[in-house]
Formats: sequence, C-alpha cells, structure tokens
Amino acid sequence: MRPEQLHVAIIGAGATGVELAAELHRTTREVIAYGLDRVDAEKDIQVSVIEAADRVLPALPPRMSAATEALLRELGVDVHTSAKVAEVLPEGVRLADGRTLPAELVVWAAGVKAADLMKDIAGLETNRSNQLAVLPTLQTTRDADIFAIGDCAACEWPEANGGKGGLVPPRAQAAHQQASHVAAQIRRRLAGKPLKDYRYRDFGSLVSLGEFSTVGNMMGGLIGGSLMVEGLFARLMYMSLYKMHELALHGVVKVSLDTLARLITRRTEPHVKLH
Ligand SMILES: Cc1cc2nc3c(=O)[nH]c(=O)nc-3n(C[C@H](O)[C@H](O)[C@H](O)COP(=O)(O)OP(=O)(O)OC[C@H]3O[C@@H](n4cnc5c(N)ncnc54)[C@H](O)[C@@H]3O)c2cc1C
Repeated sequence: MRPEQLHVAIIGAGATGVELAAELHRTTREVIAYGLDRVDAEKDIQVSVIEAADRVLPALPPRMSAATEALLRELGVDVHTSAKVAEVLPEGVRLADGRTLPAELVVWAAGVKAADLMKDIAGLETNRSNQLAVLPTLQTTRDADIFAIGDCAACEWPEANGGKGGLVPPRAQAAHQQASHVAAQIRRRLAGKPLKDYRYRDFGSLVSLGEFSTVGNMMGGLIGGSLMVEGLFARLMYMSLYKMHELALHGVVKVSLDTLARLITRRTEPHVKLH
C-alpha cells in the first residue's frame, strides 16, 4: 500500500459492510466522470473489509460467503477474515492479533445496539444489546401486557445456527412478520382467546454487490431447504423486493409514478450526488 492512498476500513462483513464495499468501489470510479479526474481510484483508494468470523456474510450459507468474497477480491477489496478489531486508532485499526491496518476513514458496520434508554426500561428484562427479552408470544418476560417486536425484541429462534439456537435476526422480514403476528394476537386477546406463539420464517436474504452482482439464498417450505441465487435473477429479485417494500409503504399510484419518473431521470442524473 502507498502512503498517499486513502484507506477505507469497513469493520464488519455482514450484508451492510459487503454492500458498502461494492458500492464504494463503484462510486469512487464514478466521481471521475464528474470532474475529480485527478483521482485514480485504482491507485489512490483502497477499501478493506474486516470480519471477526472466518468468512464474510457469516450469518448466511457458506456458498454465498465464498461467491461474495471472490467477487470482492476481484474488485480489489482487501478482505480480512478471522480478524477481530480491538481498537480504532487515529492512523488505523488495531486487530486483536496485534496487527495494525492503516485507515484514514473507518466505517462501523459490525452490528447495532438499541438505544441506552432501553437498558432495563421500566424494570423489564434486557440483554447486552438493550433488546427486550420476549416470550414466544412476543410478550415481554416480566410483563405480559407489554409486547416487543422488531429489532428491539430478543426473541428465541430454536432453528438458528443449524439447530443450535439463537435469536431471531434483526431483519425487516422478522419485524414485518412480528408486526402481523402481534396485530392478530391483540385481536385474539380482546376476544378472550389464548395467544399463539410466533415462529420466525426465514425467506432468505439478498445481498447487492452494486452493479457487479447480487447474491442471495431463498429458504422455506416451498423449495425445502436453501437455494442459492446469483446474477441477473438475484438482481431482479432484489429490485422486486425493494418495489414490494415501497408498495407496502406508499401504495400503487405513488410507486408507479415514482418508478416512471426514475426511469426518465436516470439517463440525465448522476448516481452520486456531488453537492
Ligand atoms: C444499513 C442497514 C441495512 C439494512 N438492510 C436490510 C436488508 O437489506 N434486509 C433486511 O431484512 N433488513 C435490513 N436491515 C435491517 C432492518 O432495517 C431492520 O431489521 C428493520 O428496519 C427493523 O424494523 P423496526 O421497526 O424494528 O425498527 P426500525 O425500522 O429501526 O424503526 C424504529 C423507528 O423508531 C424510531 N425511534 C427510535 N428511537 C425512538 C424514540 N426514542 N422515540 C421515538 N421514535 C424512536 C426510529 O427513528 C425508527 O424510525 C438493514 C439495517 C441497516 C441499518
């Protein structure tokens, strides 16, 4: 590495860190077209992702990790796995094994924690991430009148980690399922019926690697296990998933008009906003 390079260290190679690395690679090449032609992205910018687990995308199937790591390396991204960050220093990132990776820009993408105000809120049981411990019914463990859903709920998922158990992951699909479940349970409770347990159904994950590729896995009863998807098919799935999300939020009319407007303006507008 050359001393005059800009080193960007992304800590955490989950979906967020991996997507950011691919997107940064594309963006740094695109800025040249908008006047920053003295920047040579190949030579001047070095992006690294640093992951404590032994592979990128550790929460997803190993085949997806291997395909993603190969693609990131192809893009020139430095991938460090089994590398635990111990300290962020002014000049870089110190790893637990004593090595220091130079970095002028450090991005934390290694997980989120609920706000500190959640810690032991109202005497409820919380974990290290300040999530509220919930029963399978999504009622908090210490107060059956309080439900918790989404990222702030620590809900057991017995099938996680190949049957070893764990928590329902902090994902939009889990938040969505839990919201529907709780709405149904409130109706049952008002009708004097017993509450039903929530079971997380993993429909799979899609990780976009910018314009280069999209990888994903589909899970569930329909296909009986996990199926890896890649390339154009995965990209189309990623795009349609995003549209479904927009439809749920904004409705058909707004999304149709917005999609049409984007199709027209994408030819004239830069992908990157430079002001
Ligand atoms: C960068 C990034 C990328 C992601 N990509 C994906 C993905 O591709 N697929 C996927 O499934 N999941 C993804 N996730 C996770 C997904 O966004 C979350 O799991 C999901 O949004 C959880 O929904 P939620 O309603 O529990 O919380 P949120 O969506 O975070 O909603 C919580 C809301 O509460 C508000 N709030 C917080 N504190 C207070 C307060 N004190 N008072 C009032 N309001 C407050 C917040 O502003 C926010 O609007 C991603 C997350 C991040 C950070």
